[in-house]
Amino acid sequence: MFILLLGAPGSGKGTQGKLLAERLGLQKITTGDILRTAVAGATPLGLEAKKFMDDGKLVPDTVVLSLIKEELAKPEAQQGAVLDGFPRTAAQAELVDRTLAERGQRLNHVLLLDVPEEEVVRRMMARAAREGRSDDTPDAIKTRLQVYQRDTAPLIAHFAQRGIVRRVPGTGTVDDIAVEIQRIIGR
Ligand code: ADP
Repeated sequence: MFILLLGAPGSGKGTQGKLLAERLGLQKITTGDILRTAVAGATPLGLEAKKFMDDGKLVPDTVVLSLIKEELAKPEAQQGAVLDGFPRTAAQAELVDRTLAERGQRLNHVLLLDVPEEEVVRRMMARAAREGRSDDTPDAIKTRLQVYQRDTAPLIAHFAQRGIVRRVPGTGTVDDIAVEIQRIIGR
């Protein structure tokens, strides 16, 4: 089963994705974590990605498409996965759709974590104080929200055409939201 978590930055995709992947015994693929690890290790990928990430911009598809291809080709992603942080652009969505279709698979569920903008800003500012993520600055947060609206929110309509999008209110407790996701997925 392939499940995509969609939602604004700070909407809780990482938190819920982790719980969901553990419960279902699926691999979680998180492009943000992969890119942050690359930045920390100063690999060629990291060196290329860092500037975009610090500014709150998307890392270009020229870089991310091959990363996604590589992740989906891994043995642990053959039977299913929880996708967190991608696809985030039309080209990424096309690649995921095509790769799964070639394997006779498809995205089964798209969970849209719905959290008001004031709340995601509050969460990211709180996280900035705790974790010091280099893109949790006021300017980068503003850019990330704009980029989400411009590049990623249109994917909701793309997947909704297939009837696989379910909106999840993302403002309760972590447990409440996890229970709601379990109810939607049916396991
Ligand atoms: P958030 O969604 O909270 O902003 P992520 O960890 O998903 O956090 O992403 C952090 C940054 O990593 C993004 O702002 C972007 O620069 C980069 N990134 C992550 N995933 C992708 C992707 N699929 N395509 C392009 N850039 C990405």
